Amino acid sequence: MLIFTQKEKLQEYLKKSTFKPIGFVPTMGALHQGHINLIQESKLRCRITICSIFVNPTQFNKKKDLKNYPSSYDEDMSKLKHINCDILYLPKVKDIYPSNIVANKYDFEGLDIYMEGEFRPNHFNGVATVIEIFLRIINPDFTFFGEKDLQQLQIIKYLVKNLNLSTKIIGIPTTREENGLAMSSRNNLLNIEEKKIAKEIYKCLLYCKSNTRKGVSELKKYITDKLKKSKKLRLEYIEFVELKTLKPIKKFGSPKSNAVCIAVYIGKVRLIDNIIL
Ligand code: AMP
Repeated sequence: MLIFTQKEKLQEYLKKSTFKPIGFVPTMGALHQGHINLIQESKLRCRITICSIFVNPTQFNKKKDLKNYPSSYDEDMSKLKHINCDILYLPKVKDIYPSNIVANKYDFEGLDIYMEGEFRPNHFNGVATVIEIFLRIINPDFTFFGEKDLQQLQIIKYLVKNLNLSTKIIGIPTTREENGLAMSSRNNLLNIEEKKIAKEIYKCLLYCKSNTRKGVSELKKYITDKLKKSKKLRLEYIEFVELKTLKPIKKFGSPKSNAVCIAVYIGKVRLIDNIIL
């Protein structure tokens, strides 16, 4: 596996390389099987796969969150080598933000109003800024994102279309622990008891999926009341949305046209999850 820390060196290499298509998997590290599945998918579709590890400062609302973000470079490196990832791009903040560490302002045509956009102001401007920078550096043919971060996936699809970037965005289904908990780097911050409690999140989503006949408002109330009873869980939001626009719905549409998205605090750890309905 080749490792680049400077964009010029990476670009120089890619310019000389004849391997096409190029697949790109952006990550913030602390890699788990969810990330690995994205990389495996890229390896299936592409002749060269680039994974980046960069904890992007402009997408964090709270400095403490950025500081506490888990990192495990040595383990990440051996996981990437183990699956034969071709290139790891490991830039320093200066490489990505040479002058000001600030996010651009984008108009996402409403995709960022609710859910993460509401509770993490400016988060998606930060995400879009770093992804635009990466895509302009690497110019990949395919870029892989997880459905776990559904709103991010939809916003990046929109960004790429709107900026006329030539990469194709591929969404990959959520990888889960055996108990259903969506894999996340933040799960590393949970203790054993909290991990057990966290499986309730997926149970709630599954309940919604098998009870759509009850309707949106009844399901929302049911889940809210249920989670209120747990002392360890704090529901931030549960939202039923149209998949295309990410706007809240009052009634379910045709199968697979809606999603239920949830954000929950367990202690100080914030987890998100969703399923398509
Ligand atoms: P992160 O390192 O959290 O920024 O995630 C990097 C990429 O991995 C994003 O596209 C995420 O949506 C994706 N990802 C994170 N967790 C999972 C998961 N459990 N299943 C599938 N994709 C995931």
